[in-house]
Amino acid sequence: MRRNAKHSNTSANPRSTIAARQAFRAHRSRGKVVDVSFRSGPANGSRYDVVVAGGGPAGSAAAATLARTGHRVLLVEASRYAEPRLGESLPPPVRMSLSELGFGAVAAATGVPSAGDGSAWGGPELHRRSFLFNPCGHGLHVDRRRFDAHLAAASAEAGAELVTGTRITSCETDGRGSFTLTASGPVPLRFEARGVIDATGRRARPARSLGARRRVHDRLVAVAAHYRTGPVDCGQALVEAVPGGWWYAAPVPPDRLAVLFLTDADLCRRHGYARPEVWRARLAGTRHVRAAAAGGEPLWGPVVSSAAGHHLDPASAPGAWLAAGDALMGVDPLSAGGVHRALTTGADAGRALADWLAGEPGPARAYRARALADFVSYRQARRACYALEQRWPGEPFWARRHRS
Ligand SMILES: Cc1cc2nc3c(=O)[nH]c(=O)nc-3n(C[C@H](O)[C@H](O)[C@H](O)COP(=O)(O)OP(=O)(O)OC[C@H]3O[C@@H](n4cnc5c(N)ncnc54)[C@H](O)[C@@H]3O)c2cc1C
Repeated sequence: MRRNAKHSNTSANPRSTIAARQAFRAHRSRGKVVDVSFRSGPANGSRYDVVVAGGGPAGSAAAATLARTGHRVLLVEASRYAEPRLGESLPPPVRMSLSELGFGAVAAATGVPSAGDGSAWGGPELHRRSFLFNPCGHGLHVDRRRFDAHLAAASAEAGAELVTGTRITSCETDGRGSFTLTASGPVPLRFEARGVIDATGRRARPARSLGARRRVHDRLVAVAAHYRTGPVDCGQALVEAVPGGWWYAAPVPPDRLAVLFLTDADLCRRHGYARPEVWRARLAGTRHVRAAAAGGEPLWGPVVSSAAGHHLDPASAPGAWLAAGDALMGVDPLSAGGVHRALTTGADAGRALADWLAGEPGPARAYRARALADFVSYRQARRACYALEQRWPGEPFWARRHRS
């Protein structure tokens, strides 16, 4: 847990929130275009060893791992990495995972060092934690749009075929070891595969098409905005608890600060947290996050995204498929561990699926069992972390977390 310690439009004033969302979309054209080139895409009806759905960190890790073991892999990504993405503070172990995956150059090209973090949790004072003595060295701050696009390009360099702007819309199995996936994009496409990895993030669309159930644990949402604050060459993320939830601020290279308020969807609606005037007033009521954002030029937001915790119940249709990253388990952003988990589960799922396709399903069974064990220990860590903040026991946000 970060303690050293994101889709409903919830505004009571729709016009101001629509303006905020338009600024968010318009921001795509102002950002620097990601300087990676993508292949034009596969032919309709192509057959692959594995289709990996979703080109986030988990999908890129899985696709590169499988391609390096000689499999014909298609990595299908819905976006073109044009819109801003959340999840910008990467703890020190991420750098080690990136190097192990052969993605070390991505860290160098897209990240700036993170020296540590700070939190005001359980009390008003800010407690700082330095990464100076961390055996993995410093962490990273990244612009996730660039970071994710570079990871996908690196998986293509490792041998995966990459298609962007194409969304998997259904995934079916014939029960005899073959999958059919349909996709929407510039033209409708259909692919055949012997194996599938769902790395589509929290919605886990292909896994749900295959009959897996998504168990949602809370109603957490993130109300996010970006400010231009000046060149970022190193920095620290901050967490600050308040009665209605918690705030988070993190540098985003090259020159921004991400500011997020994490609360529950119903509280967000009731209090109008996504209304720009309410957002500004609540931000002004913080101590440390306000200071970090002081003087920043608003670029976009506030925009609401679901950050609800969930895990996938793997009871499902037969066949060689696995989920990885947030599709497998979406954790509370307080952990700042989502990207690391996505990279490691992506690589593990890739290896386990390669074994399964070679006739050895044991590693895939072990992978699913490990995911359940991880879920249990994650829930314990989350409970312990929220228990450290006892200043507002009567506030719904905290009372819910102290009960669960
Ligand atoms: C508010 C918030 C703040 C966070 N902060 C941090 C942080 O500071 N540090 C950290 O480590 N983690 C953070 N996280 C968590 C982190 O962002 C995720 O854990 C991580 O992005 C998971 O990676 P992934 O590859 O599994 O999924 P994603 O990053 O969600 O990637 C999924 C990809 O699949 C694509 N896709 C979706 N549906 C389809 C489809 N049907 N067909 C094809 N492609 C599809 C999407 O476009 C996307 O590129 C945060 C999360 C939230 C919600």
